[in-house]
Amino acid sequence: MNPQHKLTYKFNTSSVSTDDIDDDIATILMDRYELNICNRCNMWQKSATEMYWVGEEYTKTTELLNKYDYTAVCDECFDECFEEDKAK
Ligand SMILES: [Zn+2]
Repeated sequence: MNPQHKLTYKFNTSSVSTDDIDDDIATILMDRYELNICNRCNMWQKSATEMYWVGEEYTKTTELLNKYDYTAVCDECFDECFEEDKAK
């Protein structure tokens, strides 16, 4: 597992509703199922295939996510950010 992927959950813990999910379950979701939380919609996503990460892939991805102060977002949210940023 990419250690960077772990950061997002910690980063998000305060903003995500943890009422029905405790840390143990979150750890299982992240480590065993390689899921993580989108910084924008707060939904669980597959870390590797359904999310865009700062520091991965293209420089433009990192630049865009940095504008929003996100570490990782899902595909849909990335498209939204992209369109929003383009419209500015
Ligand atoms: Zn999202």
